[in-house]
Amino acid sequence: MDIIDKLESGERLCEKDALALYDLDIFTLGKYAKRVRERLWGRKVYFNINRHINPTNICKDVCKFCAFSANRKNPHPYKYSKEDVLAIAKDACERGIKEVHIVSAHNEEHDLRWYIDIISEIKKRFPSLHIKALTAAEVHFLSTLGRLSYDETLDKMIEAGVESMPGGGAEIFAEDIRAYICKGKVSSANWLKIHELWHEKGKFSNATMLFGHIEKREDRIDHMLRLRASQDRAAGFNAFIPLVYQRDNNYLKTDNFLGSVEILKTIAISRLVLDNIPHIKAYWATATMNLAMVAQEFGADDLDGTIEKEAIQSAAGAKSADGQSLGDFLDVITTSGFIPVERDSLYNELKVYE
Ligand code: SF4
Repeated sequence: MDIIDKLESGERLCEKDALALYDLDIFTLGKYAKRVRERLWGRKVYFNINRHINPTNICKDVCKFCAFSANRKNPHPYKYSKEDVLAIAKDACERGIKEVHIVSAHNEEHDLRWYIDIISEIKKRFPSLHIKALTAAEVHFLSTLGRLSYDETLDKMIEAGVESMPGGGAEIFAEDIRAYICKGKVSSANWLKIHELWHEKGKFSNATMLFGHIEKREDRIDHMLRLRASQDRAAGFNAFIPLVYQRDNNYLKTDNFLGSVEILKTIAISRLVLDNIPHIKAYWATATMNLAMVAQEFGADDLDGTIEKEAIQSAAGAKSADGQSLGDFLDVITTSGFIPVERDSLYNELKVYE
């Protein structure tokens, strides 16, 4: 059966099929990805109103692609106090923000107890805020630091009020590339194991993939297939988030230049390959707002959120430091022919802007 027949029949795609998708022209590929997206979500596009909080940029790790952590190229270390974080959460809550998204560098002064204290306090003072916190990379770091099993760490997070986990730290699963770009970080197998444990506890999370650096197409497909297999074992990924590599202010030099067509093809392929993950996110902070709008026609049904403050991607060159105003966000979605739907962090629909 050739690849078009498989796309027509909806048969699950294998590694060879997924790679062959890159050889299709972008309009054919887009047509099939859009068909899946519209079968699942029609013309709706999801977003939430969220606030990122990045409590510290002091990190014991040295990922080559990272421009967020304090180092020679970014000589501005900072760490928030608990009061700082609580003040941000209070301000967010008072302005109607529904989710705080807490991710950070691996700072040995901020151990699990530090996060648990803050998260419990946020939950106590602002119970309506959904707390999405701690990537699997952070869970690995904090578990190792505190000599706890992953299971124990995850249980403490749940007890404190963490409701979902972000998808960061996955980078690219291929071990050789991982060893070069983020040696020392959680292994691919453990990243997946942590998410599966989380899902087995009845909780949801997301999954990212950092692409456009030194990886090859084969590595992206391998990454997607490992996620698909993990979701088959222990479902709980709500969204797949392909993150376009930002090249400023870091130590990962590459001659690869990822054009819009390759980005859109990768988003479309993820929609077709990840048949068991409900949402594909066009993360505008790395893809740019304009390309994220086009990505809606190529399988993406989620635009993350207004973000408000973003420190990690903007440090590496993304134009996302101050987020988007809600008005602008709604305008660009509706003028691109889609229906904006404000969602909560678990994809329950809160408001349809028709
Ligand atoms: S990506 Fe995260 S773990 Fe790696 S250096 Fe940056 S802050 Fe540290």
